Amino acid sequence: MSADIGLIGLAVMGENLVLNMESRGFTVAVYNRTTAKVDEFVEGRGKGKKFVGCHSLESLVKNLKTPRRVMMMVKAGEVVDHFINLLVPLLEKGDIIIDGGNSLYTDSDRRTKDLAAKGLLFIGTGVSGGEEGALHGPSIMPGGNPAAWEHVKPIFQAISAKVQPGDQPCCDWVGDGGAGHYVKMVHNGIEYGDMQLISEAYFILKHYIGLNNDELQQTFTKWNKTDLDSYLIEITADIFAKKEDGKYVVDNILDSAGQKGTGKWTAINALEIGIPLTLVGESVFARCLSSLKEERVKASTILPGPKPENCGNKFTGDKDKFIEYVRHALFASKLVSYAQGFTMMRAAAKEYKWKLNYGNIALLWRGGCIIRSTFLGKIKDAFEKDSELDNLLLDPWFTDKMCAAQEGWRQVCSAAVLSGIATPAFSAALAYYDGYRTANLPANLVQAQRDYFGAHTFEKLDQPRGQFFHVNWSGRG
Ligand code: NAP
Repeated sequence: MSADIGLIGLAVMGENLVLNMESRGFTVAVYNRTTAKVDEFVEGRGKGKKFVGCHSLESLVKNLKTPRRVMMMVKAGEVVDHFINLLVPLLEKGDIIIDGGNSLYTDSDRRTKDLAAKGLLFIGTGVSGGEEGALHGPSIMPGGNPAAWEHVKPIFQAISAKVQPGDQPCCDWVGDGGAGHYVKMVHNGIEYGDMQLISEAYFILKHYIGLNNDELQQTFTKWNKTDLDSYLIEITADIFAKKEDGKYVVDNILDSAGQKGTGKWTAINALEIGIPLTLVGESVFARCLSSLKEERVKASTILPGPKPENCGNKFTGDKDKFIEYVRHALFASKLVSYAQGFTMMRAAAKEYKWKLNYGNIALLWRGGCIIRSTFLGKIKDAFEKDSELDNLLLDPWFTDKMCAAQEGWRQVCSAAVLSGIATPAFSAALAYYDGYRTANLPANLVQAQRDYFGAHTFEKLDQPRGQFFHVNWSGRG
């Protein structure tokens, strides 16, 4: 049986992805370093289906139609290079190697170039949606060597999530080199932001107005029928309802968040290319702070918060009105986060010479992935109207939404500050919004200080841009 595609790596993602491929009519050859897993899979979940189990890479390659398509779903990093090195001597010119793991975009860029020099085509693709998405339809963000796309497109678009109208696949070519993995990295960064914002909304609803888990579940369920309609809001509502042995599971989970690194990569790249991606940055730092559990427990007994009489901890206002304010704070902060993410992709496209289609990227994220939500359709609309849009907040739909949300957003941030509840992402979003809409920032003083101690020069308001001046501030020398 000649297979349409070969897959290396039968862990959670690989197994589900090949089952998805097979269900769409493709024959898949499968290999895994621990070959017992190949047998387990072919005799287990893959039994009676069009899989070719292989115990060596040689056998995997021999079982493929040409041009050969070999996809890796393995641990990112050195393991990917290890398999590429083993595959190269087994493949012929024009064959295609695909890396579907969470690789760093610079690695995918390097691999595209190295393999092109050997006559092989490389695709580095983001695959989002976890186990469930991989099985039923993930969001797929491929980049790399554009000559490879036509060979992979029919399989990838068949297995990807579809959105309406017209069953549009959440998979399209993103761009050259590392572009696919870059977009996946930004997706993951935004995911960190969404999760942090939702957690801050939960925290303030719980500790400021005292909602219990039932009320939280009902609130998030209602919110999921508004502009906030999304997968993460939906699962959050479910989480508040889950009990084990009669007790709510969420209340017994240690408040120390883990991370695997893609949020950190996104924030690091934002610093490198000079884009204020403050929501993702704050979200990564919030996870870092959460992991200092023992220190925080100790500090909670030493460092005072606001005096109880000043902090309004006993909420006596209109609960429903405040819940609506929190919804506004969450939505406005989310819009800021996406505006920042898309601004970052624009800057990266310029820096790395990619041609990115931002409307299409929003569509890739509409279904299948963790950040899927209805409002991504509005991002697509905004970029369809103006592909050169500087910042999503300047699109009329977004401006109107910010306008409608800002009073509640400010009330929530104020309440959090006055009552000593940490809401770093809500506050960072508001600070960005206020900074971005301010024509004259205090950076004039920063420039004066830089020139004072380091003769770094400055531009003047009453002179053309690009002319630099220095003042002898101290009058000495
Ligand atoms: P994983 O735990 O990241 O990787 C396991 C696979 O890598 C297994 O096939 C394993 O082989 C192989 N592997 C690990 N170290 C190896 C080594 N030194 N040499 C050879 N093979 C090695 O699996 P996963 O969670 O399914 O993820 C696969 C990729 O998709 C990763 O890059 C991950 O970041 C990305 N991803 C994961 C998710 C998710 O929800 N899990 C979502 C999106 C993307 P053995 O069986 O022999 O150990």
